[in-house]
Amino acid sequence: MSLRVEAVPCLQDNYLWLLRDNPTGAVAICDPGEAAPAIAAVEGAGGRLDAILLTHHHGDHVDGVEELKARFPGARVIGGAPDLHRLPPLDEAVKEGDTVSLGAARAEVMHLPGHTTGHIAFHFVADHVLLCGDVIFALGCGRPLEPGGMEALWQSLRRVARLPPSTRLCCGHEYTESNARFALSVDPDNQALRAEAEAAGALRAAGRPTVPTTLAQELAANPFLRARDLAEFTARREAKNHFR
Ligand SMILES: [Zn+2]
Repeated sequence: MSLRVEAVPCLQDNYLWLLRDNPTGAVAICDPGEAAPAIAAVEGAGGRLDAILLTHHHGDHVDGVEELKARFPGARVIGGAPDLHRLPPLDEAVKEGDTVSLGAARAEVMHLPGHTTGHIAFHFVADHVLLCGDVIFALGCGRPLEPGGMEALWQSLRRVARLPPSTRLCCGHEYTESNARFALSVDPDNQALRAEAEAAGALRAAGRPTVPTTLAQELAANPFLRARDLAEFTARREAKNHFR
């Protein structure tokens, strides 16, 4: 595995991601919701930016693109073709099955609708990395916000569940502690969940991100991945919206 990934906090509780392909030194930023932390991360990694990867059109994932691109004009802005009309200007519009290159690293584009209809993820297959935006979080999942979203999100999570369990899930938000409270209300005796919740508390107390998580961990602990069927998933997703 030659791809280094680093969660960079931005805005209130978002993460943008810094990726570096070690053999070539190529660098990408995923989902820059804010320019300043993205620019600082790129400068810290050597001042080279090859690509800006976008999972979906929400402002907290794209609002830093214009300023980041202005600072590093050689960076290719890459996002989903279905959302061309509501993403910042793209240099590469991609769809399910397309391949995106970062130096020697290769990502397969997965269309994972549900949170939004055009949501995509970048799967660096050989590196076991999934840039999954707001599809899945540690112990949680995104909120379906557009028509047909509930079933689409369920199907997208089914696809994620079939990836190699060692896959590192690079999520768009630090929601783990509040997700853990809901998850424990659903599945209080799950030992893997209790362990992940405890570990998250310790990491946050130390000021560190709880992500990336791994698919193996989420298969064992995440109540949305563990739902038996669409009906149970829907009930949990709706209960989560009202959970305090
Ligand atoms: Zn979003």
